[in-house]
Amino acid sequence: MKEDYYDILGVSKNASAAEIKKAYRKMAIKYHPDKNPDDTKAEDMFKKSAEAYEVLSDPDKRARYDQMGHAAFDGSGGFGGGGGMNMDDIFSQFGDIFGSAFGGGGGGFSGFGGFGGGGQRRAKGSNLRIRVKLSLEEIANGVEKKVKVKRKVQAAGTTYKTCSTCNGTGQVTRVTNTILGRMQTASPCNVCGGSGQMIDQKPSDADAQGLKVQEETVSIKIPPGVVEGMQLKVGGKGNEAPGNGIAGDLLVAIEEKEHESLQREGDNLHYDLYISYPEAALGASKEIQTVSGKVRIKIEAGVQSGKILRLRGKGIPSINGYGKGDLLVHVNVWTPKTLSKEQKDFFEKMQGDENFEPNPEKSDKSFFEKVKDMFS
Ligand SMILES: [Zn+2]
Repeated sequence: MKEDYYDILGVSKNASAAEIKKAYRKMAIKYHPDKNPDDTKAEDMFKKSAEAYEVLSDPDKRARYDQMGHAAFDGSGGFGGGGGMNMDDIFSQFGDIFGSAFGGGGGGFSGFGGFGGGGQRRAKGSNLRIRVKLSLEEIANGVEKKVKVKRKVQAAGTTYKTCSTCNGTGQVTRVTNTILGRMQTASPCNVCGGSGQMIDQKPSDADAQGLKVQEETVSIKIPPGVVEGMQLKVGGKGNEAPGNGIAGDLLVAIEEKEHESLQREGDNLHYDLYISYPEAALGASKEIQTVSGKVRIKIEAGVQSGKILRLRGKGIPSINGYGKGDLLVHVNVWTPKTLSKEQKDFFEKMQGDENFEPNPEKSDKSFFEKVKDMFS
């Protein structure tokens, strides 16, 4: 079981954004790798708290987490699915939160994750967005989808040199005279975007950043139970960034295809079964379409139109991983639209018969009574 994000940060479920930020800052400083060299437990806590903060600091993600728990982000190779955030991500996203507590001046994290001293910033490639249309069967069972994505990648043969404006520090210092005396302020170098690097040489098919568009096949693992409109993240499969930058993410929006005979309602499925008059009167064995193939069910003699049969666990698995929905089979007795002479005679003969007069018992009328547990 994955730990609860609120528990990791030690805040309550209704903690304010400021409380969450404060709690995370405390954790990040306590478990910072510079303070705990070669301590894998501290590193683990450092990563866990960053992951928790990544979700709880974003109102959208927090809402989804509150609703669905960890499952909201699972199975897509992003954080959560792929075993947490890496150190580079943490420093590039949240470095400013605890930067002032470490490394003094530039807030650099020397000797860690390629984040060179001097306050360099690593550029982040933009995210890419795609839609994936899934059948109910794919949603019920989970699926691995291979999609073609056109993404910007670093063109082979691109070389970099140290930015001459900031001498590779990624920052420029300005000295201003104030009434208190001379003041030094540092700001990111806007020639190199704070990366400290500039393109030296690049192939002719690369753009100004040394990137070129390439079509790639990306494999996306989709967990069972996803819902239309849900977004999965495949970490690092967006556009790459120049130099030592970090690739963006591939964001996958889920769409659900209409099924020809099943209708979804949350985790439950509905199926309309049509049976004939004789089948209703005599009983029958009928084949039902489910998301995992066909099953046969027994219809008892004397079944009423409108009866609902519940096939337990034949619905969609919960995205949280807790159980499965049911398949509700709605029985409809089919009335012929035309009759032959013999059929007409037959029904006319039956018309006066007392046994054919409707005489519903309480159990025939109550909705809850009609829902019969087939599998219990
Ligand atoms: Zn520069």
